[in-house]
Amino acid sequence: MNIAAKSLEAAEGRSFEDAAHFDVMIVGAGISGIDAAYHLQQDHPERSFAMLERQATFGGTWRTHTYPGIRSDSDLHTFGFSWKPWKKKAIAEAPLILDYLDQAMTEQDLHRHVRYGHELLSADWDSDAARWTLHVRRLVDGREIDVTCNFLWMCQGYYEHREGYTPQWEGMEDFEGTIVHPQTWPDDLDLTDKTVVVIGSGATAATLIPAVAGKCRHATMLQRSPTWFAPRPTNDEFQQTLASLELDDDVYHDIMRRRVLKMQQEIVRRSFEEPEALGEELLAAARAHLGPDYPLERDFKPSYRPWRQRLALIPDGDMFQAIRRGEASVVTAKIKRFEAKGIRLDDGSLLEADVIVTATGFNLLPLGGAEFRVDGETVRLPEQWLHNGIMITGLPNLAWTFGYLRTSWTMRADLVAAFVSRLLSHMDAKGVRSVTPALREEDRQMEPRPWIDPENFNAGYIMRGHALMPRQGDRGPWVNTQNYYEERESLPAADLEDGTLVYR
Ligand SMILES: Cc1cc2nc3c(=O)[nH]c(=O)nc-3n(C[C@H](O)[C@H](O)[C@H](O)COP(=O)(O)OP(=O)(O)OC[C@H]3O[C@@H](n4cnc5c(N)ncnc54)[C@H](O)[C@@H]3O)c2cc1C
Repeated sequence: MNIAAKSLEAAEGRSFEDAAHFDVMIVGAGISGIDAAYHLQQDHPERSFAMLERQATFGGTWRTHTYPGIRSDSDLHTFGFSWKPWKKKAIAEAPLILDYLDQAMTEQDLHRHVRYGHELLSADWDSDAARWTLHVRRLVDGREIDVTCNFLWMCQGYYEHREGYTPQWEGMEDFEGTIVHPQTWPDDLDLTDKTVVVIGSGATAATLIPAVAGKCRHATMLQRSPTWFAPRPTNDEFQQTLASLELDDDVYHDIMRRRVLKMQQEIVRRSFEEPEALGEELLAAARAHLGPDYPLERDFKPSYRPWRQRLALIPDGDMFQAIRRGEASVVTAKIKRFEAKGIRLDDGSLLEADVIVTATGFNLLPLGGAEFRVDGETVRLPEQWLHNGIMITGLPNLAWTFGYLRTSWTMRADLVAAFVSRLLSHMDAKGVRSVTPALREEDRQMEPRPWIDPENFNAGYIMRGHALMPRQGDRGPWVNTQNYYEERESLPAADLEDGTLVYR
């Protein structure tokens, strides 16, 4: 039986009417929600919990995206869970990731906790009762139901799953071919003999180009400006040697994770301290695939330092190889407008296309698009402050799992889970029912800064989302560093009695 059918079967008939109150409600059954549920179950087996998920099955991102070749852009040793060894190739396609998540949920008996096809619309906190009432829409019949919980753990990811971000270009309606966004890829799109133009040069474009090259007439990556890519051999000697030693799976997984983290730490350090040398190495790796005559400076040398956006790994340089074979190419130019037969570029030339893929990113959706009210008052997120990048001022008993953008997402999901677990134990020990982050007297004059420092990370969806998100400050616990190597020390040691958490 396939995974989706299994999930739906597990979910069948399971709604919230049978048990309307839970100690903890986890929103989202993607990689973060599954991780949260695992840790909660391990550390607080006495607490009842459920997971509510809008989609018909688990997996989140790995279910939503079905475009050709869909795969991770970081290694699965660190993108996978700390508690479930990953034994396959480092960069993995969505079906492998979904299979891994399915196994993890089965082993931990998590499937039965998820209510699929349930969307959180809004949440009301009642200070007297110290509980959230969640207003949830059941997608199967459109009915709205209320469920309550003491603690709300938002693991809903960061973007609108139903629709990707497509900029509006002049003349789009004149184009006679098909325009698709990778996030809503039509099952029946046949690219045979089609000229395909992919707009964008992020990880999605780098995945799509080699996946469709050779299967369509020609594939072009149209980019406004270049992106850094890191070709990486899938035939990893270190991994093979390790595998041949017949180590316990846990030991193998642990060594692989440590190695990846060490290598990434070194790349991050170099991206700040010696960006030119690092850039030259990346260019040399690209040159090895593309040959000596390729105009690398034009297409693959960005103006920003490496790692300011996620450095996309390309297994065996497959995108470069497709270019070298002549099945794909890159055009670095600005779009003037769409026309009937393709895209008119700034230099006046026409880039012909039958299919245009807008690999232009996401629409950021703070906290799953739900509205939050506390004692009847709406809480406006942009007026609030992030506490350790996990909790939010003004919102009691609520944690939010937002992972890392450079290091694998799940490395932070684990740290967040440990923090929440410790907080719940601390509340038990104090005998309190609620915790709310609040500024101390000395924090009140802090200059608000965007939730993620644009100097540090400037991906489009992050930049577009600044005005929608809570802010960060200039001192702990109000900073959101997005730095694994700092937070692996600071989060486990975070003081829960530093005056920034108000307990009742
Ligand atoms: C194509 C692609 C490739 C990526 N590759 C990597 C990678 O290699 N490494 C890496 O570290 N990161 C990668 N990322 C980032 C990736 O999104 C995260 O790492 C991770 O999958 C996010 O998991 P999540 O569970 O937090 O969120 P999601 O995967 O977004 O899952 C959230 C779930 O919550 C549900 N939900 C949202 N709102 C509501 C609501 N109101 N009510 C009910 N349910 C709701 C959604 O339906 C969804 O199933 C990639 C992202 C994309 C899009």
